[in-house]
Amino acid sequence: MRAAPTQEDIRRQNLGALLRHVHVLGPTSRAQLTAGMGLNRSTIGALTADLAAAGLVVEELPRDTGGRGRPSLVVRAQSQRVYVFACVIGVDRVVAARVGLGGVVLDRRELQRPGSRFSPKEVAEALGGFVGQMRLTAPRDGVCVGAGVAVCAMVRRSDGTIPEGPTPDWRDEPLGERLSAAIGTVAMVGNDADLGVVAEHTRGAAVGCDDVIYLHGDVCIGGGILSAGRSVTGGDGYAGEVGHMVVNPDGLPCRCGSRGCWETEIGEFALTRGTAKHAIGGLADAAARGDQDAEEGLRRVGDWLGLGVANLVNILNPQMVVFGGTLREVYLATAAQVRSRLNRTSLAVTREHLKLRTAALGDDAPLYGAAELAFARLLENPLESGVEAASG
Ligand SMILES: [Zn+2]
Repeated sequence: MRAAPTQEDIRRQNLGALLRHVHVLGPTSRAQLTAGMGLNRSTIGALTADLAAAGLVVEELPRDTGGRGRPSLVVRAQSQRVYVFACVIGVDRVVAARVGLGGVVLDRRELQRPGSRFSPKEVAEALGGFVGQMRLTAPRDGVCVGAGVAVCAMVRRSDGTIPEGPTPDWRDEPLGERLSAAIGTVAMVGNDADLGVVAEHTRGAAVGCDDVIYLHGDVCIGGGILSAGRSVTGGDGYAGEVGHMVVNPDGLPCRCGSRGCWETEIGEFALTRGTAKHAIGGLADAAARGDQDAEEGLRRVGDWLGLGVANLVNILNPQMVVFGGTLREVYLATAAQVRSRLNRTSLAVTREHLKLRTAALGDDAPLYGAAELAFARLLENPLESGVEAASG
């Protein structure tokens, strides 16, 4: 039997819940917090005072007091002062950002090398350099409360190791350790699609929707799955490798050693970052001008995309499928074909409430997800996460 929570446990949970509220929803009045959290006014006042004393939030009068009566104070996250470093590692690009509490991107650096492959050492050098530059421009009283990394690879949940990557030097790569050393802050590592679904659920297309599949196209195709509001990661963390779902046993050989995997069948339009936008855009333009080859090409891509989505919908019964990364453009150009295939191939009941959407956070969904991963510890236990009290 679990022991009943102590007063201190309850206070910690409430502090975390209040801070999360402000972090996700932005500036919120005490009256809204009272209603939204189901706590009384004096408790909200006490919790807010504790978070303010720790330098995590400020309270201020609302700009528009809107008439009579004493206005309810607005609680706002200290976004400039409390921040994390969020990083994205694609196959041919790395991104680092300083993201303030509340999910505000305060600073951002990116390195692209289309067509080439970064080694773990190069990734660590690039991100270490970016984070070093961003530390210099951060406010003097700023506090870094963590770092999160989204990587386009499978991630072992127990220790953040990458079992294999785009080049042989990624094999059994201890990425979390390497990046923690490079950037000087403990770095939490997650798969880019797993973090993308968290971001779209927190601040993107899937807000309020707890059963979501986020499909991320880069050089590979990954899936992030949310079921009843929880991430589906599998026993070791490798769930969601939807790109290797076999859709055509007689199809092309895949880099994984199998044949006819979804990502080989969707083809180069889904898989070639940078050129994908032009390729799929060019194809759509040509099809609109009546080019029959282009029409046929689009039809094929949309058909394969719809077929894979139909399988996923039958298995997982999501309320929403979100297309992110390069798949955003692919879906926009082939939406009718995707829907048509989906309607022919999936069970009517599994798609009855299904919405198909593009990522509201665009290419940055994994970046915002990495920030959420980095903020998790603070939101779990706001007063014991190494944030010093505000000096001023
Ligand atoms: Zn494969």
